[in-house]
Amino acid sequence: MLVDVLRREGAATRGRLISATGLSRATVSSLVVEMQKEGLLCETRYPTATGQGRPPARLTLERSAGLAIGVDVGVRHIAVAVGDLSRRVLAERWISLPHGHSADHGAPTVLRCIQETLDEAGADPHGLVGAAISIAAPVAPERGQFMIPGVLPGWSGQQLANLIGERWDIPVAVENDANLGALAEHTWGDLQGATSLLYVKMASRLGLGIVIDGSIYHGAQGSAGEFGHITVDPAGELCWCGRRGCLEMYVGGESLLRQLELPDSAAMDLRELVLRAEDPRIGAAINRAATVLAQGLSTLALLFNPSVIIIGGELAVLGDLLLGPARQAMNNIPFGRPIPVKTATLDGRGSVAGALALVLSDSSRFTDHAATSPAVRSAGRGLPHH
Ligand SMILES: [Zn+2]
Repeated sequence: MLVDVLRREGAATRGRLISATGLSRATVSSLVVEMQKEGLLCETRYPTATGQGRPPARLTLERSAGLAIGVDVGVRHIAVAVGDLSRRVLAERWISLPHGHSADHGAPTVLRCIQETLDEAGADPHGLVGAAISIAAPVAPERGQFMIPGVLPGWSGQQLANLIGERWDIPVAVENDANLGALAEHTWGDLQGATSLLYVKMASRLGLGIVIDGSIYHGAQGSAGEFGHITVDPAGELCWCGRRGCLEMYVGGESLLRQLELPDSAAMDLRELVLRAEDPRIGAAINRAATVLAQGLSTLALLFNPSVIIIGGELAVLGDLLLGPARQAMNNIPFGRPIPVKTATLDGRGSVAGALALVLSDSSRFTDHAATSPAVRSAGRGLPHH
């Protein structure tokens, strides 16, 4: 499917469309002409690397082909992005919220924030193909339900999905935030296309997204990658998951803020904590977290032997302050070459970008206007309607 290739890859030359779809040159050419006539395709030429010769035309889907909404519900924020099917982010918004924010207040905020972001993008609501919601909690992917009730006060992934679905009349998916961060890096990051990557989300909580052979690995029940809840100290502090001494209690942003006991830590957000990393108390807490994190990442490297470990979330911008010990530890892994530990291309925006990537990558669930256009249908290869 020509549209699928463009959604998956963002942009493609005619040659790439031929090789990826197996259609003949003539069929691809006539489909491209038809779709251009309908205003669904845009053609651009970028200079070649050598600056010599005529560069091949690259085709992308126009915004009239469809728009997607990404929503990220975090422990201390809500973020919304609107993007088109060529992977351009047209507008995005971030709202900081106090820890323990509830759905009663938060759900109307999400709806208002989506409307404002759509307005800013100048989006026609009829052009929406779907939305995905990123949630900072373990999510059973098929049902969109949290696997631990009460993890975000009053929030339910499915209820929020229903509200958004009814308001804009679109299909809505719910996914774990770290899984979406991994998908975003796989789709947009510097290492896009890496076959096996681990994405560690270091925000208020600690999450892990696992991409194996290009797909998110969910496990049998959907909770694979709950890396933050492996036990570091069985006699340690009680974690929200019900057990003691979880890794997240040592390296998660929320626990860092709590350990610091700063007078303003309840209202402080992680981006502020990062800005104040020079403060000796904050620096010492980050050092302690970095040492425990290095042990955790070494375990992941041994278990998965990934191509790369990517660190995202708001704390990722701490860079070597947080990752120095982990990078050192990779040199001491006994098998194979040291595994690179890189900061995410999309830093704190990974989850909301991943929500967009999920809509773009699943064209069977999120049907676009290009796929249902007469040009594509006439080739007998349109996607099924919903
Ligand atoms: Zn735990």
